[in-house]
This record gives sequence, C-alpha cells and structure tokens, in this order.
Amino acid sequence: MPTTENSTLGTDTCQAVSAWDEPCDAPAARECAECGLSFCMAHYDDPDWHPCLASV
Ligand SMILES: [Zn+2]
Ligand SMILES: [Zn+2]
Repeated sequence: MPTTENSTLGTDTCQAVSAWDEPCDAPAARECAECGLSFCMAHYDDPDWHPCLASV
C-alpha cells in the first residue's frame, strides 16, 4: 500500500493517534521537532500517543 505524504500545513489540530487508533481533535499546542507532528498539551507528553517518547 503506497503511503501518501499529506503535508498538513496550517493545521492546528492534535495529530496524535493512540495505539488503539483513536484520533484526537483537540487543538495542537506544541510541535515536535523529532517527528514534526503537532500535539495537544495532554498528548505531547504521553508515550501512548507520541511515539518519540516511547522509542528511547
Ligand atoms: Zn515526536
Ligand atoms: Zn491530543
């Protein structure tokens, strides 16, 4: 399956997706320099939603 790279410039919604495929539609508060995704305050620090935190 080809992965379409959709650049979501200007998006201000949390781009976190949990391990159980539950999306978050809260307003984004912080952008991660590692993965380039925007997260709400709650999910930026949550490894269940932010893979960067879980990898190390
Ligand atoms: Zn990240
Ligand atoms: Zn979120």
